[in-house]
Amino acid sequence: MLLSIKEMEVRKIAFAETWQPGEIDFDFADAGVRQTAPLRAEGVAELLPHTGEEVRVHGKVETVLESDCDRCLGRATFPVSTSFDLFYRPVELEVTAEEVAIDEGEAEMGFYELPGIVLEDILREQLLLQLPMQRVCSESCKGICPSCGANRNEVSCNCGVVHTMTADDRWQALRDIKVH
Ligand SMILES: [Zn+2]
Ligand SMILES: [Zn+2]
Repeated sequence: MLLSIKEMEVRKIAFAETWQPGEIDFDFADAGVRQTAPLRAEGVAELLPHTGEEVRVHGKVETVLESDCDRCLGRATFPVSTSFDLFYRPVELEVTAEEVAIDEGEAEMGFYELPGIVLEDILREQLLLQLPMQRVCSESCKGICPSCGANRNEVSCNCGVVHTMTADDRWQALRDIKVH
């Protein structure tokens, strides 16, 4: 959905939209991230008076995203929900170094080009920001065995046991030496 600057010159744009999984591509922005539930967003986009075409977009968005678990490569599910309040300037106004320096303190300031701002781009970015750095299917995920590659959530492989037995065997060998 285009948030048209021309339309904002006439009135505020109120949006309340739903996108089904697949209609917004998360995977291209962050590899392996998929949407698995309807994405709902509502809010308002408006031109702020007396600011030189500055646009404010605020509202909330929610959906469920999933990715591969960092530890076991299984499915990691993340319900995400956030509200946002963002400000955009026309890209032509980004002129002097002085202004750029001031902008560094304004984390929420973005830039737009005509004909306007694509709402889906805003929502994708806001939702991806909500994902944790470490994406695991559960905090207790045991991951993949580095020796045999088994998913240790599903099977208990014998690799750990073999290590223990090897250690025991060595002690046994030492004891044998002492005895003789
Ligand atoms: Zn996992
Ligand atoms: Zn193993």
